[in-house]
Order: sequence, then C-alpha cells, then structure tokens
Amino acid sequence: MYKAIVRESSYEYERLRKDVFDILVALDTGVITANKVVLIKPNLLRAATVEQAITTHPLIVRAVVEYVLQMGARPLVMDSSCFGKFSRIVRETGLVDALSGLDVTLAKFTDSVKINSILPGIAVDGLQVKETELAREAIEADCIINLPKLKTHIQMGMTLAVKNLFGCVVGWRKPQWHIKIGQDRDQFAALLLSIYRTLRPSINIIDGILAMEGDGPGTGGRPRQLGVLVGANDALAIDVAVCQMLDLQPDELPTNKVARKLGMIGEVSVDGKLTKVKDFAMPSTIRKISDLAFIPSSTMNFVRQNLTSRPASKKKLCKLCNECVNICPAKAITNDGKSLHFDYEKCIRCYCCSEACPHGAIEAQKPLLRRFF
Ligand code: SF4
Ligand code: SF4
Repeated sequence: MYKAIVRESSYEYERLRKDVFDILVALDTGVITANKVVLIKPNLLRAATVEQAITTHPLIVRAVVEYVLQMGARPLVMDSSCFGKFSRIVRETGLVDALSGLDVTLAKFTDSVKINSILPGIAVDGLQVKETELAREAIEADCIINLPKLKTHIQMGMTLAVKNLFGCVVGWRKPQWHIKIGQDRDQFAALLLSIYRTLRPSINIIDGILAMEGDGPGTGGRPRQLGVLVGANDALAIDVAVCQMLDLQPDELPTNKVARKLGMIGEVSVDGKLTKVKDFAMPSTIRKISDLAFIPSSTMNFVRQNLTSRPASKKKLCKLCNECVNICPAKAITNDGKSLHFDYEKCIRCYCCSEACPHGAIEAQKPLLRRFF
C-alpha cells in the first residue's frame, strides 16, 4: 500500500513551514543525515511571478532547505529550463529572495551523464528507452527531494510529481526527446517513468496551494486556489492522490496508466483530508473525443490531421517574438513577419510551443472536421 499525506496549507510562512516540516518528518526515513548531498528539484519552468502559478512557490523551497540544513545535510536547489536565462528565472520567481541568508547552492543543471535505462521492460509500442542522459547532480546526489507544482499540461494532462523529474533532462535535450518519441502519449509516459525509476526521489511534496487549471503548464493556464500540499515517498502515490482529489480517474493520466500496466503502482491510502474538487478545468486537448489528440503513430494520418487538436496562435496576443519558432523540435512553425504558420504534417503535438510562449498566445484548436462532429 502506498501512502500520500495531504495537508491544507497557505503561503503564510509560519504555517507553511510547519506543514512542510510535518510532511518531511513523516516521510524522512533517515535518508537526510549529516553531510549528505540533497538535491532539491522545484519546477522552474520559466520566469514568472508566484501569482501566475507556473513555478513551485519559493517559500516551499525555503522551508525544505531549512529542514535539510537542520539535519546537517548539504542542499542543492537545481533545475534546467529551455525558456530563458536561469538567473532571470530564479530572480523573477522569487527564489533568490526566498533563499537569501541560507547556506544553499542555487544553480542550473548543465552536465549530463549517460545511464542505461533502469527499466528495460518499460518499452511501450516498440519504443526502447535503452539509455537516457540525466543531469549529473541528479545522478550523483545522495538523495532527491522533488517539489513539483500542481498544474495542467496541454500534452500530458497534468504535470505532477513524476513529470517534474523531466526537468533533470538538461536544457535542449528535452525537445529532442519529444521529436524522438513523436506524439504517442503512452510512449512519452514510459520515458517519464523510466526517468522517475532511475532517480527515485526519496521525498516528493507537491505545491497545490495555488495550482493551475486550463491550458497549462505555461502562460496559457489559469491559477486556481486549492490550498493543499500533498507529500509521499513514492511520486506515483502523489499523482494518483491528486487525480482522486480532482475527480479524475487515475488512469486518465498516461503516466499512471502505464505505471499500472507495468505493476509500478497499487492502491494509495491518504493521510489527511482529501477534499474533492469537481469543477477543475483540464486542458482543452484532454478528455473524451479530444483524447484523439494523441493517437498512436500507427493510426491513419488522415485521422491525425483532421480530428486531432493542434496548436494555433491567437493573433491578438501574439507578439511574433519567435520563442515558439525557436523551441519547436519539429521545425513546424514559421514567422513571415506578419503572422505564424504551422505545418501540421510536421507537428508532433508536443505543445512545447505553448510552454515557451510568454504571452499565452498558443491555443489548442480543433480542426474543422472535428468541430463538425
Ligand atoms: S511565442 Fe507566443 S508571442 Fe511569441 S511568436 Fe510564438 S505565439 Fe507569438
Ligand atoms: S508546432 Fe508546437 S506542438 Fe507542433 S511540434 Fe512544434 S512545438 Fe510541438
């Protein structure tokens, strides 16, 4: 039986610190001890304010760093984003201010190390993830504390505890994985699970106090107050508990579904009050007919082109800044100086363009035939 701890909380620091410490004490099985190197991995997707709910709240990171220091261990706070300079991201998200005065290293991942896949049997639909390259510090740390943000994700439904570890793939290697895998969500889920099993964070705490709904995980999503922290030793236990809270079937999340097929997750018991949220808005690409948005690559091209959601720019919001053009792993977007053009034959529906857009100007659009149905 897997266990998830749920605590109602807020960003008022004294209360938050107490709640975070309570969860850490309950989950620390003796792994955080003197002189151990503890990697703390928040979600630092891009430069954003705490009100935008894109990144893990900096005061949660502070509370975790204080705990690690109190145990005599050595905290490293690290992440790697494709979207902007790390120095700007940590400044604008409030992390620099939040960590001031603490003996902590705050840096971005730069070096990668190649490792054999921990789960050779994890291949889905023929994809063999034999080898991955992950951040050196993530591989070499004595233990990892994973601090995801509770957000929707236009490609994968939600980005929770398992998905947050994709940030340990350094910088531009992330879009390269998207192009390697294509548009099958189950295959991408298999990659995420392989990374998760390789890194095996000791403790996971998700920031669901100010969460995100709608077309997340970037500027296209909307902040949503949920007022909870969820902690667990097993990242999948958090992902299952959050689905229960949001009134989703756990297997609606591809990572949960593939994990269950592979026997990586069973029943999850909840310690605390899990209040159901019945009206949480998922991305427009997810659920019911829109599940066609990520059909297996073996399915007819006609169906993909005519029934699946696809990215499009909102002309009124688009500033033609080229962030999406530069990030697109399929080179499917061009800018003629007046508007953007998408090549849907090339597009793999990874929605990296949506994550990259600083202005919330990329939406998932239904093709004409799909609208007719
Ligand atoms: S990133 Fe956003 S604003 Fe910039 S060109 Fe793309 S859609 Fe337009
Ligand atoms: S256009 Fe957007 S969704 Fe399509 S491949 Fe490029 S980044 Fe991915």
